[in-house]
Parts: sequence; C-alpha cells; structure tokens
Amino acid sequence: QLADAHARKRSALIPILQTVQRDYGEVSQFALQHIADVLGLHAADVYSVATFYQFINTAPKGKFIIRLSRDMSSMMKGAKIVARQLENDLGIKFGETTPDGMFTLEWTSCIGMNYQAPAMLINNEVFSNLTPQRAHLIIEDCLQGFRSHRPTVGKIGETYSSALTYASHEAEAGLRRALTMSPAEVVSEVAASGIRGRGGAGFPTGTKWRLAAAAKGDLKYIVCNADEGEPGTFKDRILLSRFADVVFEGMTIAAYAVGAREGVIYLRAEYTFLKTQLEAALAARRQTGLLGKNILGRDGFDFDIRIHMGAGAYVCGEETALIESLEGRRGHPRNRPPYPIDVGLNGMPTVVNNVETLSSISCILARGAAWFASIGTERSKGFKLFSVSGDCTRPGVYELPWGITVEELLETVGGGNAKAVQVGGYSGQLIPASQFDRRLAYEDLGIGGSVIVYGQDRDMLDVAENYFEFFVDESCGQCTPCRDGNVKLLEGIRALRQGKCSSRYLNELISLCETIQVSSKCGLGQLSPNILIAINTHFRDEILARPVMGQH
Ligand code: SF4
Repeated sequence: QLADAHARKRSALIPILQTVQRDYGEVSQFALQHIADVLGLHAADVYSVATFYQFINTAPKGKFIIRLSRDMSSMMKGAKIVARQLENDLGIKFGETTPDGMFTLEWTSCIGMNYQAPAMLINNEVFSNLTPQRAHLIIEDCLQGFRSHRPTVGKIGETYSSALTYASHEAEAGLRRALTMSPAEVVSEVAASGIRGRGGAGFPTGTKWRLAAAAKGDLKYIVCNADEGEPGTFKDRILLSRFADVVFEGMTIAAYAVGAREGVIYLRAEYTFLKTQLEAALAARRQTGLLGKNILGRDGFDFDIRIHMGAGAYVCGEETALIESLEGRRGHPRNRPPYPIDVGLNGMPTVVNNVETLSSISCILARGAAWFASIGTERSKGFKLFSVSGDCTRPGVYELPWGITVEELLETVGGGNAKAVQVGGYSGQLIPASQFDRRLAYEDLGIGGSVIVYGQDRDMLDVAENYFEFFVDESCGQCTPCRDGNVKLLEGIRALRQGKCSSRYLNELISLCETIQVSSKCGLGQLSPNILIAINTHFRDEILARPVMGQH
C-alpha cells in the first residue's frame, strides 16, 4: 500500500522500512529483498539505505530499545551513573540485548532534552531528569507494562522558561494578511523584515523565497526542516509541541509567496512522539479551510502538508542531505550548485526553511516587517530562540533579541560562574570567559540557537572527546577527510587525555584539523575541528599541564 501511495518510487523506501520495523521489530534480510523487488531496486541498495539510519534495525533488538542520550549536557548531569544503573538492572552492556529479547541498551546522540538531562528514549517515549533510582523504577514499569500488556509509563512533563511571543498574535493573522497581498508583495515584506534563516547558516529568507518564486518548475515544495539534531538544541521541539499551528501557518505563507502546492515536514526520528498530535493539528486545519483547496476562500490557492519521519541521522539536517533522505536514499549531502531552490525535491524548486524561521514568518506577516526589523541589530533582525543547557541554574528556551552579549545571556539563565560557553552546537564556537562580552548576532556570533554552559570544573578535553565521538558516529562517510580525519582526532584527544602526547603531537593534531576543515564536503567536516582548535587556542596551558605532557 505504501509503495502504491508513492507510485512505487524509491521515495517510499524509508517509510516502508519504518513500517516493516514497526510491525515486525526489525527489517530482516527477507524483508529487504522483498522491499527491493516491490520497488524495483537492488537488494544491496536497500541494505545500504537501511543500514545508514540509526533508527532502522536490520538485526533483532529488544522489545524495549533504550537509547540514553550522551550529549554533553547529559554527561555533565550524571548520564554515566544512570548508564551503570541500567547495565546493572538489565545485566547487559551498552550495545547488547537481554537474552530474553526484552531490552536493548544503546547510547544515542542528543534527543533534544538537554534542559532536563540526563534523558533517554524508550522506543518513542521520552524520559528525562533521570537519576539511577528513577531509571530503576522506569525499568520496573516497563516490565510491569509488558507483563500486563498495558502501555508503558507515561510521558514526562516539560517546562520551559521563555516568554514566547509566537502565540501572542491573533490566530492566522499572518496568513490572512498575506492573502490580502500579492505573492510578490509577501516576498518583499519578508525581505524587508531582514529575517535570516534560523537553522544556523543565516541565509536571508527573503532572498531564498525570491529565487524560489522565480524558479521554473511544474511543482514547487516547501520543506520544513524539523531535523533538529544539533546537540544542545531543543527550541524546534518546543515550537512543534506548543505552537505547531504557527509553523504550519508559516509554511502556508511560504507556499503562497513562491507558488508551492506541497509541503513536507521532515521530523527527526527522535521526535516520533510528536507525530500523532501534529497529524491531528494538520487534519483540523484541513477541516477549517486552512489547508487543502482554495485556502481561506482564495481561489486557486491549494496547498497541503505531510509529515515525513526521519530515521536517525544528524547529517540530514543539512538541506541537500535531507532532500536525498526524502527521496529514499542515504542522507549524503549533494554538491552545490545547483541549489534546492532550483533543483530540490524530485528535481523541483524547493524551499527548505527551519521550524523557527517559519514561525517567525507568521509573526512578520501578522505584525509587519517594520516591527520585526526594529528589533535586534543592523545585520541581525528580530528575536531569536536560544536553547540553553549545561552548568546554569535556569536551563530552557529563551526568546531574546539578537545582539545581547554572552554575559547578558548567562545572567538571564543563571550561568554566572561559567568557564566557557559553546554557542551554535557542537559545530559552533567555544567562547572562553575572557570573551563573554561578545554579541550573539551575525555581526559577531551568528548561531542556530544552542548554548551549552561549562562551569569552572569542566575538563575541556572531556568536552572535546564527547564532541568527536559524536562526529565520528554521525559522519556520513562520503569524504575521506571527515570520515577518517575525525577518527584520528578522537584518537589524538584520548591520547592527550591520558597525558601520553607531546606538544608537538598537539600541533600536528591542529594541522590535521585545518586539513579536514578545508577539504571536507559539507558543514559537518568543515566545522567538526572547531572545538579542538578552540581549546588549543584558549586552554592550551590546561592541556599541557596534564601529567607527562610537555616532556617529549
Ligand atoms: Fe559526509 Fe562528513 Fe563529507 Fe559531510 S564532510 S559529506 S558528513 S563525510
């Protein structure tokens, strides 16, 4: 049925793999061959895709797959002792399945719960603020639930500390106003607001839309990038949990502006628990004329949105890798040009915008470009959501105008005694205390929104090791400098941690960092060395002061 719904194209591949896994617990060799036959693909091709994604199992796993987040915030808040408790309770190590087939224990990358760290997923359920005792009780509940065939323990409530303005305007005011304008006027309004993409790259949204509107294609797409995989980021999850209609509204405005008829939300696998409520919200919009044909009575304005589930791959946050994934392939970034606005999904012009960008669009149209442009700085207009975690007393999502200093942000979140702050996720920048007067704005630190606070006692080599474990896991493997270079850097950092290496060796690692930066194909490899370069620049004395160091 799924194959038929996709006209037996390979875009059906990942949804079929996910469905088989849901129904049978794994995608067996037999299933891989059968799927290949149905879609007219080679079995090796199907296997290659299935094994690329972390959330697709090609080998048997437990009925309960426990994925404990090993992001830095979780590690700082005690993930390792929770891990020991789980291992003791289950009698297995990470990477193993209990002999009775009940539990599989795995580490995973950030699951978007850093402000309630440590956190884990059990199948699709989130459990946060973990302690060893709590982890023990959760395992008991799982057993209880299985024995009595009841659902497992309920979801954990979440809190956030932001005063989001997103929901404060009249519902659909942005869309209604957009429909009083011509599509070109909407594009001009967005351009006049000065908004830049909130995913991290900061490309001007008005320019992207103008190019997409001018691009030729039988069909155009709006893709909402909800593959929020940058460690330390959880703002998009909050938006989709609490303000999904504002995101849908932004997508609908984008569709009107550029002439698109289909919208896709690429939702990361770790957020599967949101899918049902998002689909219900989309159905409600169809019922009230906000999606479908002749939206809000506008003749000929047809647009609908579907949700496509990611399957566990950080690199799919890169827009061309995301499109590859939507088309049923491994999430390998493409060479550019051509850009997605000309040749995107299914070869058609495609606008890929971040969740937060689309939310802001609704506000811009509701309140006007001048209002938005009056907030922030010369090159960074409007407000920004920051996901703050780590060594601070008030972690959460904060909505603040661009241009505040790192110090002001730390005061707001209770991170006053920080040693350093990582801004922009693992691919971003490490800012030492001596530079806390720097501004969060494109003039200085233009970031996607992740802020991780490191207190005075944190060992920066621990931080670097954690980052490189992540990059080694998440490299798509397409290019050698990233695939092999990050492994070498991880080995080097482990040697540095043990005080086994000389300062000359450290210099060689930095030289390797520079090679990886200039020779990698996409942002992952180009930015992964940032952390080692930063700690060498700002904390070299700390590294060299380790026992044995500096003697060679
Ligand atoms: Fe893949 Fe890394 Fe190359 Fe990017 S830089 S294409 S993630 S191997």
